[in-house]
Amino acid sequence: MIPAARPLIGAEERAAVDRVLAGGNLAQGPEVAAFEAEFAEAVGARHCVAVNSGTSALLLALVACGIGPGDEVIVPSFTFAATANAVALTGAQPVFADIEPAHFCLDPDAVAAAVTPRTAAIMPVHLYGHPAAMDPLVAIAQRHGLILVEDAAQAHLAGYGGRTVGTFGHAAAFSFYPTKNMTSGEGGMVVCADGDVARRVRLLRNQGMEQRYANEVVGWNMRMTDLHAAIGRVQLTRLPGWTERRRHNAAVLSAALGGLPGVTVPAVAPQAEPVWHQYTVRVAGRDAVQRHLAEAGVGSGVYYPTPVHRLASFGLSFDLPQTTAACDSVLSLPVHPDLTDTDLRAVADAVAGAVTGAVAR
Ligand SMILES: *Cc1c(COP(=O)(O)O)cnc(C)c1O
Repeated sequence: MIPAARPLIGAEERAAVDRVLAGGNLAQGPEVAAFEAEFAEAVGARHCVAVNSGTSALLLALVACGIGPGDEVIVPSFTFAATANAVALTGAQPVFADIEPAHFCLDPDAVAAAVTPRTAAIMPVHLYGHPAAMDPLVAIAQRHGLILVEDAAQAHLAGYGGRTVGTFGHAAAFSFYPTKNMTSGEGGMVVCADGDVARRVRLLRNQGMEQRYANEVVGWNMRMTDLHAAIGRVQLTRLPGWTERRRHNAAVLSAALGGLPGVTVPAVAPQAEPVWHQYTVRVAGRDAVQRHLAEAGVGSGVYYPTPVHRLASFGLSFDLPQTTAACDSVLSLPVHPDLTDTDLRAVADAVAGAVTGAVAR
């Protein structure tokens, strides 16, 4: 079986965890501080604050930027539920806007149309590791005086116009969940440009304390442990090589699948340098194709089958035709850095067999 995703943990990660266990400082400490500095260097960010998940990073980024009850935040509905959950958990209202069909990210025209007097922020998602259209989104945010928070959970080291994502907005959130392009086990990182925002994130992740027992605000415990940071630091050193390999794998898949009937291979926007968290095609008869792939020993995934606004947790009604169409047609194929060229050939052959079969049915 060729898995759809696979976390790559090696001897270096195990040695790093061992070193922390031997040192005895298990909670947030010097490994977390070093991870923050190294991540800031890697993405070209001024401030990084490590937390216990990508969802925590989104939530603290929003709260530290002043988002709360009475505010509206424009988000895509074609994303993982954490994007909108983080908005709702601040007490603000998520307002769902449609996506551009070619790149699956927020459509700037739809965002502009969704702005109201209560809009306080825009939160684009760099879905599948493909950057959202940051130039027009930054322009909309500036025109209306809105906060811009990037959900970069799937887009470590992705570029847009020569700049790394996570550095366009007031703040950004990365995730280190095991299936992401790099992992710390669980974990997240808030990236921000402004020192005051960074300080508020540091307070909010640790009960509102900078000095012990001198709590300044009401906060959470969303700290990252030194065990997780030690894993993340090793993974960060491997990320550039893994990203190269994902790009190679995506190019091989697109060359092999480009001409198949009923298959649309992923497009890349002119300024975009995606990092292929997912390699996602649109395919006619998607569910039958996915079953055929499973029978051929090729794992695949549907990210995401249901628009977030329609989930029971939100139950809202928005008219988002591009989002609905994407939910019904997307299929993500294996693209992770552990695939060999033989694996890629097997994936392409299985897709070719599946679409021929699906057309015949
Ligand atoms: C994974 C993910 C998150 C949440 O990250 P966790 O570390 O799982 O909390 C948020 N947004 C998107 C788009 C994601 O893919």
